[in-house]
Amino acid sequence: LLTGVGFVIYDGYTDRNPEEQFAPDPTKKTLVVLGTGWGSVAFLKKLDTSNYNVIVISPRNYFLFTPLLPSCTTGNIEHRSIMEPVRQILRHKKAHAKFYEAEATRVDVEKKVIKITDNSDIKGKVHETEVPYDMLVVGVGAENATFGIPGVREHSCFLKEIRDAQAIRTKIMDCVETAAFKDQAPEEVDRLLHMVVVGGGPTGVEFAGELRDFFDDDIQKLIPDIAPRFKVTLIEALPNVLPMFSKQLIDYTESTFKEEHINILTKTMVKKVTDRTVEAEITGPDGKKSSITIPYGLLVWATGNTLRPIVKDLMAQIPAQKDSRRGLAVNEYLVVQGSRDIWAVGDCAVAGYAPTAQVASQEGAFLARLFNNMAKTQDLEQKIHDLSTGLNLKPGDTAAETQEIAGLEKQLRRIKDIKPFHYSHQGSLAYIGSEKAVADVAWLNGNVASGGKLTYLFWRSAYLSMCFSTRNRVLVALDWIKAKLYGRDISR
Ligand code: NAD
Repeated sequence: LLTGVGFVIYDGYTDRNPEEQFAPDPTKKTLVVLGTGWGSVAFLKKLDTSNYNVIVISPRNYFLFTPLLPSCTTGNIEHRSIMEPVRQILRHKKAHAKFYEAEATRVDVEKKVIKITDNSDIKGKVHETEVPYDMLVVGVGAENATFGIPGVREHSCFLKEIRDAQAIRTKIMDCVETAAFKDQAPEEVDRLLHMVVVGGGPTGVEFAGELRDFFDDDIQKLIPDIAPRFKVTLIEALPNVLPMFSKQLIDYTESTFKEEHINILTKTMVKKVTDRTVEAEITGPDGKKSSITIPYGLLVWATGNTLRPIVKDLMAQIPAQKDSRRGLAVNEYLVVQGSRDIWAVGDCAVAGYAPTAQVASQEGAFLARLFNNMAKTQDLEQKIHDLSTGLNLKPGDTAAETQEIAGLEKQLRRIKDIKPFHYSHQGSLAYIGSEKAVADVAWLNGNVASGGKLTYLFWRSAYLSMCFSTRNRVLVALDWIKAKLYGRDISR
């Protein structure tokens, strides 16, 4: 199930030809891939790297299995279990692909070059340079949306990258240990132990559920005196959480949260954040608006994504992109509209689908097929051309050669007949705490909605099977067993 996400089995490693060239092959085009997230990695996984000089550029030298990131914030899963080094992925490709750990800061569409900056702490003599490309695949994803709300960047934690999950894990324990400090005033204990999550999408809901589990399973046992004061509040601007799920599952999630003592504030829009409080506007049932101030110890901001500066800049260089707001508008073959030799996948591309990992990985796999086919097409066209030229020179061999040409032309037609990208939705899953999950899964021609403990087992097995490698799968399973047997590790 959910095989559409694309990483179900990753054990078909092929060994590369050891005599391969590490220097670029001047007869091949340079294909640059930006990013190492769901879209780019799905693309690289399926791409036949022997057809191009492949260069991968990303500030992150690993692929991150983001669906399990909320579990890292409480130590239920250790972060290295959901990371897969990019060089490890590239090592098993048919032909060598280069990797630069760097941030691509600008794509110059006229000169066809990419400016890159080494973003590591240790700088070499060269830390800024340019990489030319013949073909470019942009899969840089998106960044956290703050909507310009004052104080968000300074005071809240995001939940997008491994370092975010690590920062949250440290901050939770900081709040707990400070709340347990001798002679702490009761109102300060309440503030420190109030964990506020803004955004009722799947990220916010899953994090709130994991947090509650952590307190109920572990903190309660280890620091029982402060445990009763622990509180989780989820703030959502819309009338309900998880808008992409069916009504039945939304109701189930909200009632489960009530049982778990997770306070949900819907129709509540955060307007300002300070180092200790969240200021929000609540719309009452009568439509009247009122303001509230909520003190917090930890604030997690999960209100969705927005464009990265490199994407905004790229769009500004292409006149056909001027009306696109949410990202690079692509056609049904994922070509960036109005561009020359640029394709886009994942959250930075607007192809008419929600920006999810499932969409990104299907786009990446589709584009790899397209690139493999393009290379095969060129190869066949060359062969047909060579044979046709020979035909004129050697009239005696025409029968055999005409037959061969006809065969090659048939192959060519088949390859060129690649259907446009079409997303096949496999379903949505979310963990909601207390060993319960919700699932809206595509089944035959309809949808199956389910929630509860059995769905949680399904959630676990689906996520386990979707992990990138067997190594990841084993590590995640061991982390779950470890947390169950010995509890989560609360050391900072
Ligand atoms: P999201 O965009 O799904 O949800 C963000 C929520 O924040 C929205 O409901 C919005 O109304 C609310 N919001 C925005 N500004 C606010 C404010 N000022 N005050 C209060 N609420 C505010 O974001 P996400 O959960 O980070 O997900 C991002 C994307 O990734 C989505 O497409 C999602 O479907 C996908 N995703 C899926 C899963 C899953 O399927 N399990 C998990 C994580 C993410």
